[in-house]
Amino acid sequence: MNTIDKFNEHIMQSYGRYPLVMEQGEGRRCKDENGKEYIDFGSGIGTNSLGYCDEKWADAVCAQVRTLQHSSNYYYTAVQAEFAEKLCAVSGYKKIFFGNSGAEANECAIKIARKYSFDKYGKGRHNIITLVNSFHGRTIATLSATGQDVFHNYFFPFLEGFINVTANDVADLKAKLDDTVCAVMLEYVQGEGGVMKLDKEFVDAVYALCAEKDVLVIADEVQTGVGRTGKFLAGDHYGKKADITTLAKGIAGGIPMGACLVGEKCEGVFTPGTHGSTFGGNPIACAGGLAVLDRLNSEGFLDEVNRKAELFRSELEKCSEVESVSGLGLMIGISLKSKKAGDVAKAALDRGLLVLTAKEKVRLLPPLTISDEEIKEGLAILIDILEE
Ligand SMILES: *Cc1c(COP(=O)(O)O)cnc(C)c1O
Repeated sequence: MNTIDKFNEHIMQSYGRYPLVMEQGEGRRCKDENGKEYIDFGSGIGTNSLGYCDEKWADAVCAQVRTLQHSSNYYYTAVQAEFAEKLCAVSGYKKIFFGNSGAEANECAIKIARKYSFDKYGKGRHNIITLVNSFHGRTIATLSATGQDVFHNYFFPFLEGFINVTANDVADLKAKLDDTVCAVMLEYVQGEGGVMKLDKEFVDAVYALCAEKDVLVIADEVQTGVGRTGKFLAGDHYGKKADITTLAKGIAGGIPMGACLVGEKCEGVFTPGTHGSTFGGNPIACAGGLAVLDRLNSEGFLDEVNRKAELFRSELEKCSEVESVSGLGLMIGISLKSKKAGDVAKAALDRGLLVLTAKEKVRLLPPLTISDEEIKEGLAILIDILEE
């Protein structure tokens, strides 16, 4: 039986997959089982931040595998300590809880917000405001938090305690931010929701109102974080630091990891026994994360991300089929005039280019290490398809 048949026989069909078996990757290119090569503008949904099998990253991960692959969180490991220290230093946060995915990082943030409020104000202040069109994950709590009706089917009952506000609508926010609310959760750039950047005025209003009422701000930076937008955190573009920030996707260069970062306000909320994860802070993931941070901290790295983001944008805006280009840094949404994003993604695959979609847009999350030549080569394919 071939791979696709085996999959269909034994793996639950929860994804619409392309008929393509990925076999190997190097740099910003990967190959399928037939040896066909692809330029990667998707990074495995923003996870492979340093591209495929980056040498220093792979060396760090392999060395850790051969030293200590895992130890329970009843013990300490040096690699988790070092990663946490560097992540705090680069992000400006005080304390971290490590999990294994974005949804878990958001679950952690939701628990912290509710307990912070309960500890200080008692019951009845458990509501969390999330935005229409947001995406926060696939667990029951994070689906409940997600502000899109399409995610609120089949799995009833969903968790109560989430109130949706229309993004960029300050009046709606003011009307709903009452004394039952403990937190406002937002993505600075809504990823799955269509690569939509929040207005600065709206973000300013969220922070001002929350500060007034001791309501926490939770920034879901699972997709926008760790250099994706050209700054370490997307909040830096807005001059804002959330009380809680969640990271995942690109944080460990393609190894599963999620992190929930808190500042002073929330650093003491969790006490022994109130939260946990068997694999959280796994040494292999931390070694991968350290390699990612080392690269991001290297001289001029984020300047290069910003320069390359400009290159993408200026080239795309010249294309006659492109209506507009949204997003921030190397998180790019492309609105099309007449073509369908799904058709473009399929055509790109045939031509040896991987792209993503988000709602009706073509979405690009290229590896942060992509070169100018690879950008030009990939864009030539994409623009050719768009102008066909
Ligand atoms: C991908 C994503 C998640 C979910 O992350 P998983 O690792 O799939 O659980 C949550 N929030 C945002 C903003 C995301 O982009």
